[in-house]
Amino acid sequence: MLEKVNCPLCGEDNCSVLYHRPYALGSMSDCAATTDQFATYGRIVRCVKCGMVYTNPRPARDALLAGYGSCVDDAYLQESSSRSINAHLSLNVIKRFAQSGRLLEIGSATGYFLNAARADFDAVGLEPSEWACKIARERFKLEVYAEPIETDRFPRGSFDVVAMTDVIEHLIDPKDAFRRAADWLKPGGLLYVVTPDVSSLSALLLRGFWWGLRPAHIHYFDRETLRRMLKEAGFEVRLEKSFGRMFSYGYWLSRLRNYPRLVYRSVEAAIEGLGVKEKLLYLDTRDSMEVCARKAA
Ligand SMILES: [Zn+2]
Repeated sequence: MLEKVNCPLCGEDNCSVLYHRPYALGSMSDCAATTDQFATYGRIVRCVKCGMVYTNPRPARDALLAGYGSCVDDAYLQESSSRSINAHLSLNVIKRFAQSGRLLEIGSATGYFLNAARADFDAVGLEPSEWACKIARERFKLEVYAEPIETDRFPRGSFDVVAMTDVIEHLIDPKDAFRRAADWLKPGGLLYVVTPDVSSLSALLLRGFWWGLRPAHIHYFDRETLRRMLKEAGFEVRLEKSFGRMFSYGYWLSRLRNYPRLVYRSVEAAIEGLGVKEKLLYLDTRDSMEVCARKAA
């Protein structure tokens, strides 16, 4: 069931259509991070007043929550070495602003980031997927709660850092999510956010074929709309840059599966020829934003 929504940033009910594809309704259970469901992202619009890009209409709240609660993504575990390295890349940036204390990760998946963060922080996770929480608890002995962001589990001002990597674009009410993060942070606390950049060069060039457009992504930010939403939630942006990551050549190749066969086959042949499928490659495609913001003291 799809429902019509107003702009999540300014509330205006006036938008123009950017891209329009059929929405794969069944694909909401396909919320997995490693999904290959690209071309079924529905109707993506831009707010005429403030420029915010979002999916409209979008699946109803209950359908989204049920999808995330039952999400199972075994492919996610196959890149465990690179995901651990990516966690350290994020922590290196976070530690420029906060070196110790209590840290909450919203959308902690199977716990790679929290496990890496434990070296410096008292780390806790919120993650709607029961499957992912179970792995985080059993494999890493982490403190994670299979609860949505609307939880009242944490008192106000209980964290020094809140981290959200590839999460805000999935949430039903991103401004409310940032406000909750602000509530949970101590004054001067740090919010760390990574999300796709809908104004990046690859998004502009690839248009409706950009890999950032997915059925599970319902909000698309650029630097301006992200900065504005953070400000309205009580944050001051302190660092803003593009975010690169490490994956195996095989994983990067799998991201091209929905592109023309000739492109996919050529890259596949090159990777197999070089024998590097399992080797790791760091790539910054300049279409993911990494932001550090302080809660106003
Ligand atoms: Zn707007």
